[in-house]
Order: sequence, then structure tokens, then C-alpha cells
Amino acid sequence: MHLRSDDKIIFCYSCNSMTIYHHRDTHGNSYVDSHCDECGFMEWQNRAVEREKEKWITFNIEKGIEPNSTKRNA
Ligand SMILES: [Zn+2]
Repeated sequence: MHLRSDDKIIFCYSCNSMTIYHHRDTHGNSYVDSHCDECGFMEWQNRAVEREKEKWITFNIEKGIEPNSTKRNA
């Protein structure tokens, strides 16, 4: 992996690893969105996941729900 000036390393929720995001689409064309170097997952999706996570953390705190209280006991 080579790191260009417009590349950045972000956690990819699709790969579940730190990966390089770059401003190219899967065909190598210059593009406004950032794609994961490994799987093509887009950074805005990554950010959306982060925002969703924050929303649910806030929701759980407001409702007094413990993060690990979601039991799946049959
Ligand atoms: Zn990825």
C-alpha cells in the first residue's frame, strides 16, 4: 500500500480493519467520495455508521439502557 497525499487511514466497518481510503472510484477515476482500498466501502457510509453508533449510544443513555444489556438468551 502506498499512501498518497489525498489518502487517509480510517477504520473500515466492512473490512473490520484500519485501511486506506482514497479519492478514487473502483475504476481508478478521480471521485469526490473516498473508498476503502481493500473492499471499496465508501467513507460516507463509514461516517454514517459512526453517526448511527453515536445516536444509539445517546439513545441508550437517555433510556437508561446498558450497552451490554441486550441479552440473546433463548
Ligand atoms: Zn474496507
